[in-house]
Amino acid sequence: MVTTHRNATRRDLPAERFDLLVIGGGITGAGIALDAAARGLKVLLLEKTDFAAGTSSKSTKLIHGGLRYLKQLEFKLVREVGQERAIVHHLAPHLVKAEKMLLPIFRDGTFGKHSTAFGLWLYDRLAGVRPEDRRRMFDRRTTLAQEPLLHPDGLRGGGFYAEYRTDDARLTIELVKAAVRLGAGCLNYAEVLSFRYQSDGTVQGVDFRDITDGSLHAVDATHIVSAAGPWVDRLREKDGSREGKQIFLSKGVHLVVARERLPIKQAVYFDVADGRMLFAIPRHRTTYIGTTDTPYDGDPDQVFADADDVAYLLAGTNRMFPSVRLTPADVESTWAGLRPLIYEAGKSAGEMSRKDEIFQSPTGLISIAGGKLTGYRKMAARVVDLVMQKRKAEGLGAFQPCRTHRLPLVAGDPLTSTALSRLRADIRTRVESENLPDFYTDYLLENYGPDTPLVLSDMPTFDSPHPETRLLRAELQFSVRHEWVVEPADFLERRTGRLYFHIRSIEDNLPVLLADMGRLLSWSAEKSAAAESDIRALLRKVRVFR
Ligand code: FAD
Repeated sequence: MVTTHRNATRRDLPAERFDLLVIGGGITGAGIALDAAARGLKVLLLEKTDFAAGTSSKSTKLIHGGLRYLKQLEFKLVREVGQERAIVHHLAPHLVKAEKMLLPIFRDGTFGKHSTAFGLWLYDRLAGVRPEDRRRMFDRRTTLAQEPLLHPDGLRGGGFYAEYRTDDARLTIELVKAAVRLGAGCLNYAEVLSFRYQSDGTVQGVDFRDITDGSLHAVDATHIVSAAGPWVDRLREKDGSREGKQIFLSKGVHLVVARERLPIKQAVYFDVADGRMLFAIPRHRTTYIGTTDTPYDGDPDQVFADADDVAYLLAGTNRMFPSVRLTPADVESTWAGLRPLIYEAGKSAGEMSRKDEIFQSPTGLISIAGGKLTGYRKMAARVVDLVMQKRKAEGLGAFQPCRTHRLPLVAGDPLTSTALSRLRADIRTRVESENLPDFYTDYLLENYGPDTPLVLSDMPTFDSPHPETRLLRAELQFSVRHEWVVEPADFLERRTGRLYFHIRSIEDNLPVLLADMGRLLSWSAEKSAAAESDIRALLRKVRVFR
């Protein structure tokens, strides 16, 4: 179990020189830090906001085999991401869960009946799907029985195939924890301001600001990787090396409704009128819908879902599931993120490749952008391979191969399927005995996995008549102690997902949350007041569209 070591990490910095400095604590940077630490490198990761605060908490939360790549004939990519999702599922089975997806086929739809049957067949083979999980093709009647809410007009059948669902921010935090267990230093709220250079112009370190107290620091490293996602070009600009290919930002929005307002029986991947496709995915007490794909040239730190985004998603959903008649009043919450795509002239946002790309600047700065959540491990392996080759060429040590495919993302023993079933049964018993709503079993298992008993062990110490309040307080205590919570959003948005999937639990418990945060984080009265307005701003931001 890792404990909050933020102050200790920062205190020791001036005396240290790192083998590798990683800028950006999204899934890409966290994956690189873990891979490098596992190969024996001395690693420091600096994140300007919170871990996963960028795109890595704003995705569709699928670890997917890339069906859309098949349409673009990117077979190698389909094979790679398909194999990757099986590996990541194995490393964190509580967090990366198999999820069946229904793809309804319509006359004049994106996918025809025969092409879907063949495409999904090929997809299963390329992605190495186990025989029992391979796609099934349904006729019209079975498709409607499988999903009675579907629009029947023009429906010709459906494909039923295997995907995986996760929580992007939780996956990122588990990578950070695993990196720290292997000795990496990881600091959130540490913004890289500028690079430092040797006399020959090679980058040798960075200056950064600790956002928590405004202090400035310098740190040296032999190699520096920028995994700054949508901000990658800003850092290349600071380095004077923003040349060649550029990042193109595309905004993607999701919205959340109560499960009973869109009670689909499984995840559905469906056509919308403009030829794009949306996902509707059940999750605990909600169903979420996404996503849009529109060019974005605003401030990457201020992205939110506007009325047009919400109207587009609702129109597409109401067209596919006409009986539900969703309105903006049904939308409990939203999130909006930016895809850092590699710009391709003449292509729309939706047509641009989701492939990752490594840029090597003349100063020695390595930058990586593009890609997918799903491919994080491979992306990390490619970057750290490059660093290892450089180290070898510079006489700094032998090349160590990647070993993250064998590193479980849980502390202690890997979670076997038997251990996972036992853990789930134990959590369910506890959820029942505490009179918590049923969905908390999956919520707790997916968020905290084998740490759930530790989270729950503190529940009885909190004095509240409501079990949900006691649970919330126990989660907060755990997250502050073990998961680097500094600001309210770290806990409400990224450690628990409550801002998106259970916003009412925040509104109902605001005073107690603030009191506990103040106590656990030793806040002054001034900081407590600022935190309260931050939470209110957060609650407004996810409903700006109204
Ligand atoms: P980020 O998560 O943005 O991380 C970059 C980090 O760098 C940020 O946290 C930022 O604060 C930090 N940073 C920036 N500048 C500095 C600085 N100066 N100092 C310190 N830190 C800095 N992929 C999938 O596999 N499955 C999906 O279902 C899926 N759905 C998606 C849906 C949408 C709408 C979007 C937008 C993307 C989706 N993706 C999906 C893609 C996936 O989310 C991204 O590829 C991935 O999250 C990018 O991670 P990253 O670490 O590269 O970037």
